[in-house]
Amino acid sequence: MSKVENILDGWKNYLVPMQRAKLNEAKRRAKICSECPDAKHGSHAAVLPDYSVKEIQGHYCGVCKCPLSTAVRSKNYECPKKKW
Ligand code: SF4
Repeated sequence: MSKVENILDGWKNYLVPMQRAKLNEAKRRAKICSECPDAKHGSHAAVLPDYSVKEIQGHYCGVCKCPLSTAVRSKNYECPKKKW
């Protein structure tokens, strides 16, 4: 998958309810991000409500700049620091 496809996959999974297994993986990733010093709170990410993965709501990755609500939901996206 290309970088653009990974981004689109994350947005699709953000907008459409995910299967339980995929949501559990997104939550596992979100827990790691929520404890990462590179997770930043930002106004552009803050407009994205996240009712199922609340720990990273309103945050983006300070390394890749992606909103975490979409990054953790992208199947093939990889953390730029290899934490997940
Ligand atoms: S994607 Fe990786 S580097 Fe970015 S906030 Fe999450 S754990 Fe940290």
